[in-house]
Amino acid sequence: MNTDERIAQHAAAGLTRALDPDAYRHFQAILEILGVDYPTPLAECPVCGRVGLPERIRIHDC
Ligand SMILES: [Zn+2]
Repeated sequence: MNTDERIAQHAAAGLTRALDPDAYRHFQAILEILGVDYPTPLAECPVCGRVGLPERIRIHDC
């Protein structure tokens, strides 16, 4: 595994765990810079159970 792949792996892991929208965007930017295609992880709203893109879930109205 080369360095880019290792960076991408960490960025992807951070992306799925990022609770802060700004942190999420930074991880996303890292993957874009590396030119890595990543599956968008879906998030579930802890309040209403709605499932969707993390960015959408964060800003939706329950
Ligand atoms: Zn909700």
